[in-house]
Amino acid sequence: MSVDQVSAIVDSVQTSVPNPTRAYAAPTAKARLAPFSIQRRQLHDHDVLIEIQYCGVCHSDIHQARDEWGEAIFPMVPGHEIVGVVKAVGSKVSKFKVGDRAGVGCFVDSCRRCSECRSGLEQYCSVRTSWTYNGREQDETPTLGGYSERIVVDENYVLRMPTNLPADASAPLLCAGITLYSPLKHWHAGPGKKVSIVGLGGLGHMGVKLAHALGAEVTVLSQSLRKQEDGKRLGADHFYATSDPETFTKLERHFDLIVSTVAAQMDMGAYLKLLKVDGAMVLVGLPEEDNAVPAGTLVMGRRSLAGSAIGGIRETQEMLDFCGQHNIVSDIELIPIQKINEAYERVLKSDVRYRFVIDIASLRKESL
Ligand code: NAP
Ligand code: ZN
Ligand code: ZN
Repeated sequence: MSVDQVSAIVDSVQTSVPNPTRAYAAPTAKARLAPFSIQRRQLHDHDVLIEIQYCGVCHSDIHQARDEWGEAIFPMVPGHEIVGVVKAVGSKVSKFKVGDRAGVGCFVDSCRRCSECRSGLEQYCSVRTSWTYNGREQDETPTLGGYSERIVVDENYVLRMPTNLPADASAPLLCAGITLYSPLKHWHAGPGKKVSIVGLGGLGHMGVKLAHALGAEVTVLSQSLRKQEDGKRLGADHFYATSDPETFTKLERHFDLIVSTVAAQMDMGAYLKLLKVDGAMVLVGLPEEDNAVPAGTLVMGRRSLAGSAIGGIRETQEMLDFCGQHNIVSDIELIPIQKINEAYERVLKSDVRYRFVIDIASLRKESL
């Protein structure tokens, strides 16, 4: 056997991707998720093969599996809070090696040429952000997410996970974490700033931890006082119930920044009045129906209303490193994949403290 033949065999061993790959999928909108078999692509030069260990369950998984945002692609394998171990790398990969802990968030590619991509805002790519699932690769192939055994992603869209943090509890940083970190940084949450987080769910509880670590004075606005003790433990200085009308009189003109994670109808005027002059309210929650915005409340206080989506690769890495330094992870409930439909129902009832994470080892019980 020639040297070339031997090295070809070695290459094929290092870069071959085992298929079929076990997964859980929603076959159609609103159907229960069930075992499903998928194919992952063989490695391109810059691809990384990640054996998935854990995947967080985001409320967006539910919106999309139920086609609440429209134009969903089925069968759908959700999951965009992915943590695992690198098992193989393409021939030109320089950022990862076999054995590294790696993460994948909400997108796996983008055009790489537009001004947004070039400035590290790949999530706002003007051509196409390739969402991790319910999206399309740049070559049109539909994407399939993290409720699966393994995934193949270009190294430039893979994150380095802090190894001092537990792998399971760090999975939600990849969506819930960055979705709150990005607006908190952009609107300068820090010492001397009064910040409110609306809704103490998966996103909200990360917002409390991050805003506290950034040095802001943090207030939770929750539907009731049921989660008050948790809120304080997570780092909130104050906690109010939005079901109590006094909350809205007491806190008038109080905040520099309000970040709303709520995915339901809300009285925008009531919340905007809680902002100081020049304060900003940033929406990250995505309700099915739009909320009416009272112009007068914005005008009479030079207040801003804005939105924010996750974060780019550079900022996501910055957030992960920040969490590594500050020992910040998500509060999780680890579940086997067989409990996913039940978990969705519990998220809808706000009955999770504060993020479900799927133990992907449980997938291996399913037959191929
Ligand atoms: P979640 O865990 O269900 O948390 C949402 C929280 O909102 C609940 O815990 C609850 O907090 C509050 N809430 C629920 N129903 C409400 C109602 N009817 N009125 C007022 N408050 C209500 O969901 P999540 O995973 O954090 O996601 C939240 C939203 O953000 C979803 O729409 C999701 O699709 C979206 N999202 C956006 C981005 C982005 O990039 N912008 C990224 C990820 C997710 P309390 O019990 O404290 O009231
Ligand atoms: Zn998400
Ligand atoms: Zn682009």
